[in-house]
Amino acid sequence: KKITIAIDGFSSTGKSTVAKRLAKELGYVYVDTGAMYRAVTLYMMRKVFVSEGNFDKEAIVRHLPFISLRFEFDEDLGYGHMFLNDENVEKEIRYMEVSQQVSKVSAISEVRKMLVEQQQEMGKSKGVVMDGRDIGTVVFPDAELKLFMTASTEKRAQRRYDELKGRGDDVNFDEVLQNVKDRDYMDSTREDSPLIMAEDAIEFDNSSMGLDDQFEEVLKIARD
Ligand code: C5P
Repeated sequence: KKITIAIDGFSSTGKSTVAKRLAKELGYVYVDTGAMYRAVTLYMMRKVFVSEGNFDKEAIVRHLPFISLRFEFDEDLGYGHMFLNDENVEKEIRYMEVSQQVSKVSAISEVRKMLVEQQQEMGKSKGVVMDGRDIGTVVFPDAELKLFMTASTEKRAQRRYDELKGRGDDVNFDEVLQNVKDRDYMDSTREDSPLIMAEDAIEFDNSSMGLDDQFEEVLKIARD
């Protein structure tokens, strides 16, 4: 029997790593909802509706109907690349500049409404692992398995820094750490669907040593 698996948690807790691994083991589809919020943000940044010193909420809401999002499955990677109006933006949406603006855009109710609807559509046929901030609470409150990932702030910033650095991005650690803290704060204090752990979620501590054991345990639950 195929189920829906919801994985939520703060930034860079390793949600996508666990989600991809679960999807691979179970033969499920993996959906990265953060990529969708990032793609909408990128679109709005290009229009300069959102930037360091600018946030034009009305213009953002007005332009939402011009955005079309889809994931295109990549055989080699084993998961989908994010396409924004038929352009592959998988790489660009991970840039620091986008990370710095995304939490402002994702706090807009109209943005959330549009993306939540699309996510619910994607998860209609069971056998989905979806990761984000509100999957177990808003998108799929009836998900059969919910995980809530945690890890220390320093550890998360370090992981993110290594990832960006490894890709050749010009970043500094303090900037990454600050961004992780800023997004944690904004994502958990926004009015619409703040990041909270669903009551029936299992907490999954990614900074601890027994990650593989935890993973095996989760896999067992998913297979039952
Ligand atoms: O998962 P990722 O770190 O790529 O998400 C980027 C941002 O998108 C988050 O910081 C949050 O503001 C937003 N987001 C959200 N709800 C989701 C997934 C992501 O608000 N389900």
